[in-house]
Amino acid sequence: MSAHAVVFVGAGPGAADLITLRGARRLAEAEIVLSDALVDPALRALAPQARWVDVGKRGFRDSTGQTRINALLVGYARQGLRVVRLKGGDPSVFGRLEEELQALDQAGLPAEVVPGVTAALAAAAETRRPLTRRGDGRSVGLTTAMTREGRLQAGAHADTEVYYMAGRQLAALSRRLREAGWPADAPVSVVSRAGWPDALASEHRLADLAAASVLHAGRPTVVAVGVGATAVAQRPRAPETRAPAATPEQTPSP
Ligand code: SAH
Repeated sequence: MSAHAVVFVGAGPGAADLITLRGARRLAEAEIVLSDALVDPALRALAPQARWVDVGKRGFRDSTGQTRINALLVGYARQGLRVVRLKGGDPSVFGRLEEELQALDQAGLPAEVVPGVTAALAAAAETRRPLTRRGDGRSVGLTTAMTREGRLQAGAHADTEVYYMAGRQLAALSRRLREAGWPADAPVSVVSRAGWPDALASEHRLADLAAASVLHAGRPTVVAVGVGATAVAQRPRAPETRAPAATPEQTPSP
């Protein structure tokens, strides 16, 4: 086990085999695992020796839930137990990692973070739609459509924008994206339960994004809009460019 009292581990988006080897090793050494609801139950086989506490359950999702999770993390770590905090996807992406790191920091307890495959990447893999494209797909935004006040917000900042937590509001998201300047015929790729055996993907134009609601209802869903949402087959092949000779300070850009 690392010397850290608490290890945050990204479980990846779905099937248990999408966790990293390092994450699996930390689980094998854990005495307590505090896990999210989205995490695949098959991951339990990686830590059969540990006590599992499901903090994704009702009761942890209310306004006091985060405070209770923070208190549990600190409490178990202070007892000298090896604690793994297992989070869906990557802990650094919409995972409330900041609050939990701050709680540990305030208690003087060291923490380690093990990355995981975030939903946007799993969706790109699922649909074989690369998130970056040579030439016109140079930037990617990971965005939550919901503000803290529960308002829906959308923009046009990156060549490809991937929206998390927007599955229930696709009609409103479509409207907001058009207001933000995306054309009505912009390609949109919607993927739910990416990385799971029952993953579902659909493609749309921005104007008819609402049609995806029924298909993906009740499932964790990401919505990609822009260059990275386009099927590879629908795009002309990018011309080969010769990279300039690299100097010691320069490596050829991809
Ligand atoms: N830390 C996670 C995100 C947590 S927020 C990560 O890195 O992926 C929860 C949101 O993530 C869901 O509302 C949904 O938008 C997205 N999500 C999580 N798992 C998903 C999956 N398997 N397929 C599609 N979207 C997923």
